[in-house]
Amino acid sequence: MFNLDNPSLLRSQAFINGDWCAAETQKTFAVENPATGAVIALVADLGIAETSRAITAAAKAQIGWAQTTAKARSQLLRSWFELLIQHQEDLAQILTLEQGKPLPEARAEIAYGASYIEWFAEEAKRIYGDVISPSTTDQRILVIKQPVGAVAAITPWNFPCAMLARKIAPALAAGCSIVAKPAAETPLSALALAFLAQQAGFPAGVVNIVTGTDSAAIGAELTGNPLVRKLSFTGSTAVGKQLIRQCAADVKRITLELGGNAPFIVLDDADLDAAVAGAVASKFRNAGQTCVCANRFYIQRSIYTEFGKKLAVAMEALSVGDGMDSGVNLGPLISSAAVKKVQALVDDALAKGARIGYQVKLDQKLFSQGYFYPPTLLLDVAPDAELTRQEIFGPVAALIPFDTDDEAIAMANNTEYGLAGYCFTRSATRIKQFSDKLEAGMVGVNTGIISNEMAPFGGIKQSGWGREGSHYSIEDYVNIKYLCENF
Ligand code: NAP
Repeated sequence: MFNLDNPSLLRSQAFINGDWCAAETQKTFAVENPATGAVIALVADLGIAETSRAITAAAKAQIGWAQTTAKARSQLLRSWFELLIQHQEDLAQILTLEQGKPLPEARAEIAYGASYIEWFAEEAKRIYGDVISPSTTDQRILVIKQPVGAVAAITPWNFPCAMLARKIAPALAAGCSIVAKPAAETPLSALALAFLAQQAGFPAGVVNIVTGTDSAAIGAELTGNPLVRKLSFTGSTAVGKQLIRQCAADVKRITLELGGNAPFIVLDDADLDAAVAGAVASKFRNAGQTCVCANRFYIQRSIYTEFGKKLAVAMEALSVGDGMDSGVNLGPLISSAAVKKVQALVDDALAKGARIGYQVKLDQKLFSQGYFYPPTLLLDVAPDAELTRQEIFGPVAALIPFDTDDEAIAMANNTEYGLAGYCFTRSATRIKQFSDKLEAGMVGVNTGIISNEMAPFGGIKQSGWGREGSHYSIEDYVNIKYLCENF
């Protein structure tokens, strides 16, 4: 099943204090290939005791790690980045087999994840303080930045490499240590990353990976243990709210990258071919399972029919299948539950008056063995259909017509989420209007792809707190200390 140049990258044990370890109970859990349903690995199923051990190790290691020079931390991060690039092909294969995305997309995710490590290798050296003018001549006011301490990270299954890299890299750059818990569906990419971190030479205890299926118990320890000074979470808004409540007990710092419900607005003066290309990139990447996926397409009425036709034609190029097969550009969903959820949302939209504009025909063999859903174009979706309120997290494009710009903005903002939004127009005035008025942490103008390591990724409203990537992200991993020196 795996055909790796370096088989050592495939780990089934957790990584604590520099050691690879089984669960104290010896329990394991199965990791499945969502394209086939086949079990591809049995991974250590840890609980509270091992999580606590990892936290103690991280807290101890952090003291020494914080005393290293920024240059030394930068060099280790750089070595880790280079190892990811060197092993990109193997890492991509592991990612595709556990997560399902097509191999070219998996390669791109490894490069994307690695780019955060490269970026923070550079940022490690640029964590600056301030010297502030005092009110008297016998004082000096200094502002220094210190690492927050040992941090915990909890990550989802949709980007098993990148979501972890963009937490671990700024944490290590700032002088923090980390205990990370990847999603139970996709622990193998995280463990491979930890193996390469070990190869790069990070001291024992600085990076720890806790694998397990009892996420509530592991999460309770990560949020409840006072040695953890900060939590960084990426996942659903529901779990994020639960973690806020848990972190309140000891006022733990918390960064949250939560769910989205991105509007994708096409105005009547847009370059329609560019808008269709942007729609395909935004909607169908990772089979529609990204937090910044276009979830609701608002198309101005005079171009609505033409846009729908062009999108249907573009969808004919979607080749659905096992991500390991060449030519495939859309893989399975993560689980049978995910397929059922998408089907229920489509059924609700159809019951409320939508019609199917186009649907990719799937090979029946795919249906019977993996968790596939056919890419679907829904036309004339009612503005109150359930899929306009919830993340679809599947390859379904829901088109809704509108008449005026104000109406589009009102519908786009009619959600508790505020992660990403997209707008296609050639008008400078409308670009300004939509950029200003869309309630989102990120707005793509005439593009469907917005994520990169130099930009601040994150949301407003119920999509989260804080930013990942860019120089802003480091701020989440440092405390500001003000020194008032009297002479
Ligand atoms: P999820 O169910 O919230 O799970 C995310 C992580 O939290 C997993 O590691 C999960 O572990 C863990 N978890 C679940 N319940 C927990 C609890 N009670 N305490 C502690 N940890 C717990 O989300 P998902 O379905 O994996 O991921 C999809 C969601 O992530 C979507 O809403 C998507 O929009 C969001 N997301 C957001 C961003 C962003 O940057 N804003 C990026 C990617 C994804 P187990 O899986 O092992 O239970």
